[in-house]
Amino acid sequence: MKPTLLLHICCAPCAIVPLQDLMQDFSVVGFFYNPNIHPLKEYLLRKEATFQLGEDFKIPMLYGDYPYRDFLHNTLPVSATKDRCTICYSMRMKETYHRFLAGNFQYSSSTLFFSPYQNHDTIRKQVWTFFSPSQYIVRDWSTSYQKGTQEARDRGYYRQSYCGCIFSNEDRYSKSKKR
Ligand code: SF4
Repeated sequence: MKPTLLLHICCAPCAIVPLQDLMQDFSVVGFFYNPNIHPLKEYLLRKEATFQLGEDFKIPMLYGDYPYRDFLHNTLPVSATKDRCTICYSMRMKETYHRFLAGNFQYSSSTLFFSPYQNHDTIRKQVWTFFSPSQYIVRDWSTSYQKGTQEARDRGYYRQSYCGCIFSNEDRYSKSKKR
């Protein structure tokens, strides 16, 4: 029997390559928890795509709460700096850790390690704040970014045009504003 692994999923397109890799060695359960995503309509689109992903890969999928007010409260004071991403990663790792303990999983990981646009060093620092090295699988899937995004396209998954929070939406659509 394969060991169990709780995979934090940020969105369906970022989960394809990590799932193809991890499912070879682990019995994977997905966990969609992303209070950073704004607005609600965007959150629901990504959640719906993740539901489809779970069906396609035939894995159980858990869904966390959507405490976007907490996310905004925590990040607004530092919204113009990269600290907002540190807080964002931390909130998602913390909740994943709670689910990991509650579900008695053997391992955990995150699809955040798929995107070359995420800060992997900062994510790793937040991971080790909660998990021990024996509990967590860190792999750099970003080298397969083109392959994964093409497969997301082929599968017809919803693909977002900005990272997720209202601040990244502003960065994306307001050319003059720099983080
Ligand atoms: S840019 Fe992305 S990682 Fe950074 S705070 Fe916004 S949603 Fe989170």
